[in-house]
Amino acid sequence: MTATPNALQAGGGSVSFVASAADGSALENITWQYVPDSVGADSVPLAAARAPQSQAGAIRAEVRTALERGDVYTLRPDHELVKGRPAGGGIFFVKLPVGAGPKPLARGLLQPAAKTSRNAAAVAGSACAGSTTCTETVTQTGSMVVQATIHGQALSAMARVQVGASGPRPPIPPKVVITPAATGMLAPKGLGGDYEVLDISVVDSAGARLPGRTVTLTLKAEEGTAGHAHTGNKPPGAVDAQGEESVVTGADGWAHVMYQAPAVSGAVEVHGTSDSATAAVDTIEVGVAGLVALAPGATYTLIGWRAEHPDNHFGTPQMLADLRALADSLSLRAAVYARFPDSIRGTSRFPSVLGINDISLTLGGVFDLDLNWRPPHEDHSVGRSADLDVRRGTDDDDYAAAVQTIWEVRLHHRVGDERSSRNHLHASF
Ligand SMILES: [Zn+2]
Ligand SMILES: [Zn+2]
Repeated sequence: MTATPNALQAGGGSVSFVASAADGSALENITWQYVPDSVGADSVPLAAARAPQSQAGAIRAEVRTALERGDVYTLRPDHELVKGRPAGGGIFFVKLPVGAGPKPLARGLLQPAAKTSRNAAAVAGSACAGSTTCTETVTQTGSMVVQATIHGQALSAMARVQVGASGPRPPIPPKVVITPAATGMLAPKGLGGDYEVLDISVVDSAGARLPGRTVTLTLKAEEGTAGHAHTGNKPPGAVDAQGEESVVTGADGWAHVMYQAPAVSGAVEVHGTSDSATAAVDTIEVGVAGLVALAPGATYTLIGWRAEHPDNHFGTPQMLADLRALADSLSLRAAVYARFPDSIRGTSRFPSVLGINDISLTLGGVFDLDLNWRPPHEDHSVGRSADLDVRRGTDDDDYAAAVQTIWEVRLHHRVGDERSSRNHLHASF
């Protein structure tokens, strides 16, 4: 949705505004508000709505969600909306659809609702509610805010009004736009569905794509994501088969690059810059969808917790169901085994509670035991493998045989005997 002033006055006067939806949809429940730049001392200045740097990630994600719905958020005509922090310290006002994505932001921070009633007193008239055009008498530099419902979603747009300024307004720089060909999560490298084409363009203030523009792409993996609490040098994947980082927009204004996901899961930022154009950031989520945490149970215990990988028991629902079935069955056998005479059992171990070590991280991908983004845990990337606490030495032979029988013969999966090298059995699905 956009709000556009069709006249800007020097020295104050009447300013007319038009609001419209990007796709021509009808605007419902429209309200308008003129918010002067500085009002009472106890009001929150709009500058407070600037994205705090510490929350830039959250804001970026939210804006992306909104933009994917095909709505255009116009802030002030002289400050383009960017993902992340506004360039040049611009005012940043976004009202996000309710229920979209994570919402770590204080709502009041980005919605000047708390002060609008006070500011309203500074506005002459508010007779334009319910219309897609509005004319206000303004005497002070400020912003016109429109709020409307489109397809049931509350959206806001803002247009900047300059009053008393002389001379032409500065030109709006072009901006880089990165459009992923697909939405949703990319698989980690090597698992299929692990790349996507990014459409790159540089558009001027009128929205026209500019040919012959060089766009430099840089990749940055967001640290501390997807269950890797350790940080440093997280691999971000690669653009283009040759690893090229610069592309030139063609005659049609488009450049296309292939983005290859890394083998490690987590969010990756694609930054696009082009001379003086406003930079773009696109965030790509990399991971295996649909993994869930193994809940605690009576017949098994979750082991192998490490601060660097605090969530190490994620798997596919079927894998987890079969692990529970295995543990239940082992527990029954343990009760029988306990009744064997000592002369038969000897020193053999047959615990009634199965120790389940690493399965997969929250979004799968490389499970780097050595914290180096490389896989010694070859098979733990898709939530279909688990390491079981069955130990080396003959004392665990009966127990190992029982696991093997249940997992392979009854449940039809595979067991890798890594007892001598890694002191566990590797059960895969
Ligand atoms: Zn890791
Ligand atoms: Zn394993």
